[in-house]
Amino acid sequence: MIHYSCDRCQRRIDSKEDIRYIVRIEVQATIDSVDPDDDGDHLMEIEEVLECLEDADCQELGEDVYQNRRFDLCQSCYQEYKKNPLAMDAQVSFDFSDN
Ligand SMILES: [Zn+2]
Repeated sequence: MIHYSCDRCQRRIDSKEDIRYIVRIEVQATIDSVDPDDDGDHLMEIEEVLECLEDADCQELGEDVYQNRRFDLCQSCYQEYKKNPLAMDAQVSFDFSDN
């Protein structure tokens, strides 16, 4: 029997008895509409970043450009996660009670 653990609360998840939610997050930095008549500065930056991805010294920069993460969540953590998948601060939400 395979046991997983929840990546949020560390609770053990029994693969046969408990529902396990797999959350995959892919983040990719992108810039739209690179104008071919542009001086190419932006394009150069992207190319530099892509080259940098292959360089071990640039790993930190690489995480800002592309991330592929996978998390296992237990049922209760998933219920929390889906309410606020972007982990937004509740205090940032609009306050409609302000007259
Ligand atoms: Zn959990």
